[in-house]
Amino acid sequence: MAKKTVRDVEVRGKRVLVRVDFNVPLHEGKVSDDTRLRAALPTIEYLCQQGARVILVSHLGRPKGAPDPSLRLDPVAQRLQELLGKPVRKLDQCVGPEVEAAVDALQPGEILLLENIRFLPGETKNDPELAQSLARLCDLYVNDAFGTAHRAHASTVGVARLRPAVAGLLMARELEVLGRLLSAPDRPFAAIIGGAKISDKIGVLRNLLGLVDSLLIGGGMANTFLVAEGYDLGRSLCELDRLEEARSLLAQARERRVNLVLPDDLVVAPDKIAGVEHRVVPVNAVPKDWMALDVGPATVKAFRQVLSSARTIFWNGPLGYFEQPPFDEGTVEVARSLPAGAVTVIGGGDTVAAVTRAGVADRITHLSTGGGASLEFLEGKELPGVAVLEDK
Ligand code: ADP
Ligand code: MG
Repeated sequence: MAKKTVRDVEVRGKRVLVRVDFNVPLHEGKVSDDTRLRAALPTIEYLCQQGARVILVSHLGRPKGAPDPSLRLDPVAQRLQELLGKPVRKLDQCVGPEVEAAVDALQPGEILLLENIRFLPGETKNDPELAQSLARLCDLYVNDAFGTAHRAHASTVGVARLRPAVAGLLMARELEVLGRLLSAPDRPFAAIIGGAKISDKIGVLRNLLGLVDSLLIGGGMANTFLVAEGYDLGRSLCELDRLEEARSLLAQARERRVNLVLPDDLVVAPDKIAGVEHRVVPVNAVPKDWMALDVGPATVKAFRQVLSSARTIFWNGPLGYFEQPPFDEGTVEVARSLPAGAVTVIGGGDTVAAVTRAGVADRITHLSTGGGASLEFLEGKELPGVAVLEDK
């Protein structure tokens, strides 16, 4: 069911606690990629315009429940301030009397940013006392952090139970676009699944087999399927303990008449290093001590063929070891061939990075900000941070 959003409730004058996903990469004390900050701007700007008193809370990195000076949110406040063109007051604590005093002094349209919430051990334990302390700061709770909605933490679930709780605009968009893939995708619906391992994505693969018309498999994950089919892939990345699982997925695809496409050819090399010699071979001719690091041109062509007539495309997982050119070629070529007329949804941190690198991000319908969360959502699981929000 659709969730209430910030647009469905009165926010004027209210103290609004917004859980955002400001888990951004830092480099030398600066935000090196502000995509996640930009993604949160519509909700923050809307709330300010409507005269809400905005209190932002996020985690950054994995500080393990104790303060870590390298993971303070000061660089985030700095960048956010530039993006918004207005002051963002950053506090050095998350809860407590000083924070409460700052919140009391907050005027409509003003913004506070709390310290990294994972500095407190109660966050990931969903500690009721921390949830209470967060609830004391607000009249309304907003979750705009789709990327952490699959975790039941104090700032995603605990506090949401104690106050009226609605979705932010980014969260709403994620739920709408990903929800559509599960409920009513335009057909044909094709999914491209790559990345390193089957074991990360079994649940998604299984669920997708019940939804898609075609399933295109590439990347390290395809190796396990190919080995399961009897090919010798040399020293390629492969999960030998997942061969049965791979066979069962192949059988399920046949049963459901899903057009499951595995690579026909691969780019192979003796090692995963820069400048290494490499060549294209059919899947039955991988040299003994070599490894498959990308899909080959015949595979790209076959994938393109399927994608050209698709009306909905979901893609998670690069098709090769894309961090090291030339093994990014398969991924880049497929990214460039995504049809402009189709609904295209990309999920996964590495996949979004790869598609952005291919220079086609602006042609994509939706780049999901949630890696693990988007996969759990497409597995058909209910995300705890979503379940707790009010229904429309
Ligand atoms: P995402 O972050 O988009 O969900 P994953 O994390 O599942 O994607 O997978 C991305 C990783 O998979 C990348 O680090 C990439 O190098 C790796 N990968 C893809 N294909 C191969 C391959 N053939 N051999 C080794 N690594 C691969
Ligand atoms: Mg990844």
